[in-house]
Amino acid sequence: MRVIRDIPTLRALPVASPRVLVPTMGALHEGHLQLVDLARRHAGPDGEVVATVFVNPTQFAPHEDFDRYPRPFEADMALLESRGCDAVFAPGREAMYAPDASVKIIETAIGAGLEGASRPQFFSGVCTVVAKLFNLVRPDIAIFGEKDYQQLAVIRRLVRDLDFPIEIVAAPTVREPDGLAMSSRNAYLSPEERRQSVVISAALSEARLSMEQGCIGVATLLDRVRERIASGPLARIDYVAGVHPDTLEPVDTVGLDGLLIAVAVWFGKTRLIDNVCWRRR
Ligand code: AMP
Repeated sequence: MRVIRDIPTLRALPVASPRVLVPTMGALHEGHLQLVDLARRHAGPDGEVVATVFVNPTQFAPHEDFDRYPRPFEADMALLESRGCDAVFAPGREAMYAPDASVKIIETAIGAGLEGASRPQFFSGVCTVVAKLFNLVRPDIAIFGEKDYQQLAVIRRLVRDLDFPIEIVAAPTVREPDGLAMSSRNAYLSPEERRQSVVISAALSEARLSMEQGCIGVATLLDRVRERIASGPLARIDYVAGVHPDTLEPVDTVGLDGLLIAVAVWFGKTRLIDNVCWRRR
């Protein structure tokens, strides 16, 4: 596995086809590694898997966790190699951004609500860095997790609207045995916060069950999700929203296209997100 830290070396890397990209911020867990497995399957015997590890400063607000975000670099490299990754691009900040970088990509619809409302700088940081990674790595396929459902939808829109010749593949959310969606940020949780954090996935799976059984309004559904999450005394809800799974606009009724319930919940200083997407077909 090649570990590449600068752009000239990346550009000089011979290309095998198809090239499949897995962008990450590192601090890898099984959720990331299953993205790599999926990438490996899409790459096939002749293609290659390129992961990126870059904690992108432009998607963090000044008060957020950029400085304390975990960076276990050697362990990450060993994990990527163990899952058959061919190359890792892990640039430093200076390799990615000129000190006077002044171009940003702003998606104006899909990313406006939910995460975009709570973290106004987030999606422009994500879109800009992902566009840069697409230009640098030039993949045929890129893999993103449904754990960050809105991010996946924003990236699909980025690819469509800016004509990147890249197929976006979604990977299902990987969970801990008790249901908590895996996240690099779970490591911040105290033992008591970790114990209570199960209320998020429990609330969402109960909501899925209600949707499968039908005959329930979105407002009632969201109230139940809020109540279930609030049963963890340490949980502080940022948002619980019911939106159209494609447009991410708020809806009052579960339409023909189904419903996405997306949540963001604080436990102490840790902000966790999760979602359930229910489709009729
Ligand atoms: P991050 O390192 O948090 O930026 O995530 C990198 C990629 O891994 C994104 O496409 C995420 O959606 C995906 N990812 C993170 N956690 C999970 C998970 N638990 N299951 C599936 N994909 C995930």
